[in-house]
Amino acid sequence: MSAFDRPNFDNHEGVHFFSDPVTRLKAIIAVHNTNRGPAAGGTRLWSYDTTQNALDDALNLSRAMSFKNAMADIPFGGGKAVIMRPSEDFDREQLFAAYGRAVESLNGIYCTAEDVGVSTVDMEVVRQNTQYVGGLDSGAAASGDPSPITAEGVFRGLHVATETALGQSDLKGLRVAVQGLGHVGYSLCEKLTAAGARLFVADINQEVLRKAEQVMGATVVSPNQIHAQDVDIFAPCALGGAINRDTIEDIQARIVGGAANNQLASEDMGHALRDRNILYCPDYVINGGGIINVAAELSGDYRPNWVDEKLNGLCKTLNEIFSLSAIEKEPTNVIADRLAIERIQAAA
Ligand code: NAD
Repeated sequence: MSAFDRPNFDNHEGVHFFSDPVTRLKAIIAVHNTNRGPAAGGTRLWSYDTTQNALDDALNLSRAMSFKNAMADIPFGGGKAVIMRPSEDFDREQLFAAYGRAVESLNGIYCTAEDVGVSTVDMEVVRQNTQYVGGLDSGAAASGDPSPITAEGVFRGLHVATETALGQSDLKGLRVAVQGLGHVGYSLCEKLTAAGARLFVADINQEVLRKAEQVMGATVVSPNQIHAQDVDIFAPCALGGAINRDTIEDIQARIVGGAANNQLASEDMGHALRDRNILYCPDYVINGGGIINVAAELSGDYRPNWVDEKLNGLCKTLNEIFSLSAIEKEPTNVIADRLAIERIQAAA
């Protein structure tokens, strides 16, 4: 089946295949849409069983980046790259150098940063081979780890959701269940604690749980019960698919909002949440802080004020989504998709 016939092909502007037998590079860069500017999105290094699987991932993820970047209101379109992890031994530096040359050959229609399986060290190698890269630790406009900014965006977004669902302007006294205390989740917990919220946390890493217990007085619960806590907010900050057929009925929170990508296992979960009167903060809207931070770096002139304004913009967008959802009686994820498509088309 050709790329054009894949079910997740969505009139992507370009799908570029790169191979380099010397370094064992096999990479796909998918450029979904550049109406709003050059395509921006991370690079994933993953062990794919087949090229079709890698292609599907690139097609899906690049489309999602168009939506995320449009909702973050940054001057970038959507793109994503996947590198098929070689099954044989490989030289990581050489691999990323070859990948950097591949990015450079696209002359700026795609700008990259790190994603799953890729570190800032890898990105430094990429930078030596292309100018179209962000999310770096050093350099004139380096923005470093985007996670704290992602956490800040989620934190502000939860205020908007709390106002909408609970009629309360702060998070004081609220009970929040956080699933996953990684880079974003832990930072979010710190902010929630400072705001007077009471935390319930789960992770598979015992060390970070002990720290949250000791430092923030968090209550540790089992990973397979975190979604079912008697709380006001459930914040998925681990892997995708937290809202699925097995978990939906157990959710007691009035708000679902967190950093994880692809929180809804399927689109109908948005309807199911709405039916249960649970306000869902569309994931790619509330977690847009990280890409905003990278965009500030890609502009070549990192300005904290610009990042701050864009984070406030995310809150306005969330507010708009919640209002339209109430008026049109449609789930928030459906409204978000529609607004994203409108923004992309308006920039054509
Ligand atoms: P991370 O890898 O640092 O943290 C993930 C955490 O989840 C880890 O502590 C891990 O142990 C834990 N975890 C894994 N399986 C779990 C389970 N079954 N139950 C509970 N905890 C579990 O990742 P991160 O950078 O904090 O990102 C978290 C999520 O947010 C991811 O889905 C990521 O794609 C998304 N996201 C991150 C950013 C960012 O800036 N880092 C931006 C946008 C979206």
